[in-house]
Amino acid sequence: MAVPVFRFAPSPNGFLHLGHALSALMNFEMARRMRGRFLLRIEDIDRTRCRPEFEAAIYEDLAWLGIEWEEPVRRQSDHMDAYRAALERLEAQGLLYPSFESRAEIARLVAERERTAGPWPRDPDGAPLYPGRAFAMDEAERRRRIAAGESYALRLRMGAAIARAGPLSWRETGAGPAGETGEIAAAPAAWGDVVLARKETPTSYHLAVVVDDAAQGVTHVVRGQDLFAATSIHRLLQALLGFAAPQYRHHRLVLGADGRKLSKSTKATALRELRAQGVTPAEIRRLIALG
Ligand code: GLU
Repeated sequence: MAVPVFRFAPSPNGFLHLGHALSALMNFEMARRMRGRFLLRIEDIDRTRCRPEFEAAIYEDLAWLGIEWEEPVRRQSDHMDAYRAALERLEAQGLLYPSFESRAEIARLVAERERTAGPWPRDPDGAPLYPGRAFAMDEAERRRRIAAGESYALRLRMGAAIARAGPLSWRETGAGPAGETGEIAAAPAAWGDVVLARKETPTSYHLAVVVDDAAQGVTHVVRGQDLFAATSIHRLLQALLGFAAPQYRHHRLVLGADGRKLSKSTKATALRELRAQGVTPAEIRRLIALG
């Protein structure tokens, strides 16, 4: 059998917290047990929120936990060409269209619809589905607005993409938020016409993660349950781009004292804050209930 490949893929937009420790340690230890490889990937496509000091802190915190990773580390900002190429392949299949509304305009459109027609559908993350009609815009107008330098988001024609890919599923060895496990049927329609790129960035999280997992030969994706629903989009993009599907293990989230998902902005659960207080890596494992 091929060597299993695991990865931990944090974004350097804040300090790692206890939830990241659980994810990183699970990946690292599963890779060890299965005599596989463990990769670290820096997900830094959002240049406005990522900072070099957070990236440096990721290396420091992981090393302190006793985690070792292969070099070189893949940094997403170094691979914009790969994302652009994937985007072009989707474009060539006629599966993308630009939409020109700003986030504020989208919020206004949704509010308007809700006034007349009741609750507007939301995606699994709670964001309203795209309410605009840019998919029906004629080609000449699209070209004119792009040439005029307008901002736009490139969206996936979800209906057409699903029709092309056919039914999809993935093997889940962990569990979704409602205990879903085993062979899971992908349900990407719930996400509507997702944004895959913007004028100034040739990718989104969804596209980059799929391209990178394929480029790095990742066979096992182990990550938090908060990304369970997004796996449906990832399976769809893998199918459209001809990539093999890894198996997935979504793990429980580490919750704060308030019972909510941890945030990178909470100091109390940041690994470096705990370390500064004299907490040891062994105590971190106890805090996240990792045997
Ligand atoms: N970069 C994502 C995050 O920090 C994780 C991506 C993944 O594991 O697929 O939440």
